Amino acid sequence: MRINDGITSMSHGLIQEIGRLIFRGGESALYIWMYENYRIVDLPWDSVFTWYLAALGVDFCYYWVHRASHEIHILWAQHQVHHSSEDFNLAVGLRQSVLQGWCGFVFYLPLALIIPPSQFLTHQQFNLLYQFWIHTETIKSLGPLEWIFNTPRHHRVHHGSVLYCLDKNYGGTLIVWDRIFGTFAEEKEKEEIIFGLVYNQPSFNPLFLQTFYNMNVYNKFEAMNGWQNKLSAIIKGPSWLPGKPWTGLDEDKPDVKKREKYDVHLPTWCNTYLVIHFAAVVISFHDLAQHYVSLSPISVIAFVCYLIGSLTVIGFMFENRPNACILELMRCLILATLIQKNALELSMPFLYWFFLLSAMFWSLHCLRVFEVKIKDQ
Ligand SMILES: [Zn+2]
Ligand SMILES: [Zn+2]
Repeated sequence: MRINDGITSMSHGLIQEIGRLIFRGGESALYIWMYENYRIVDLPWDSVFTWYLAALGVDFCYYWVHRASHEIHILWAQHQVHHSSEDFNLAVGLRQSVLQGWCGFVFYLPLALIIPPSQFLTHQQFNLLYQFWIHTETIKSLGPLEWIFNTPRHHRVHHGSVLYCLDKNYGGTLIVWDRIFGTFAEEKEKEEIIFGLVYNQPSFNPLFLQTFYNMNVYNKFEAMNGWQNKLSAIIKGPSWLPGKPWTGLDEDKPDVKKREKYDVHLPTWCNTYLVIHFAAVVISFHDLAQHYVSLSPISVIAFVCYLIGSLTVIGFMFENRPNACILELMRCLILATLIQKNALELSMPFLYWFFLLSAMFWSLHCLRVFEVKIKDQ
């Protein structure tokens, strides 16, 4: 795993979890309300039959959520985050969109007519967990299991940007849905899969990767003539063009060839520094997740800004942007001040010294950089 790409993937996972603290209750509340008011059967929540029916139902709905996320432009604008890594490893399994859950949950609502909420929520989590381990190039084939289950082999095809991989293998746990609905593609042994987006984004900034694609949808909408085409620019596939089928024609799609992965080389000390600061963000998130119910709204907002701001600056550092060290100096200074003033209710006060020492280091570093620049001039 490359450190810059791996940390970017994990940053997306954290941002999604931060979003969950804000959104998740709403989705579940709506499901429970639907179930309590409109269910058509009363299945016992603790029966084996309900258990398997819920597993199948959740996986079936996942197939359609996922397919819609690829074949509806505005949903793809969110889901593309998961495909934005040029690597294929377990960390990519954590690279998720913060907004996707909020637009995709409607696909699960029909289940509320039948499946008890406790079963639904459990299987939704199982389904998500299952999809973690299939992000690997290590496992080549699982023999007869490949017929029924979604496996690393099938999911590699899903993450490919070469022509035969596009819009294929949407399944969550089971691959049978793809076989039934005609979206299945077998991995080709002789053709190397190029991972990532068709038009790859050279960035390690998680906030940018989460949001940039919405602008593409807006630009396509603006460029279209007539309301019918404008609407199609939003709801049809990303490759749709006027007069063409819903997901576009293969001949209009770029044929992605082997390309150099976006990478920026940083010295080992800098990578180590960024890994430690990323770990501090993870620990702080854990703090927030445990205590956010008892925190004041201002503290929660300050916390969320701290986490997302930190992940963004860490991304800038991985990109080696010219002003990244100044931003990092400011971030550390602001955080040390906030902790000292008790505005961030962190349960680990030693982080004050951690950020203060980091700020001192970066002020010396920035001075050195400026000194070199002045000397050069
Ligand atoms: Zn996908
Ligand atoms: Zn995936």
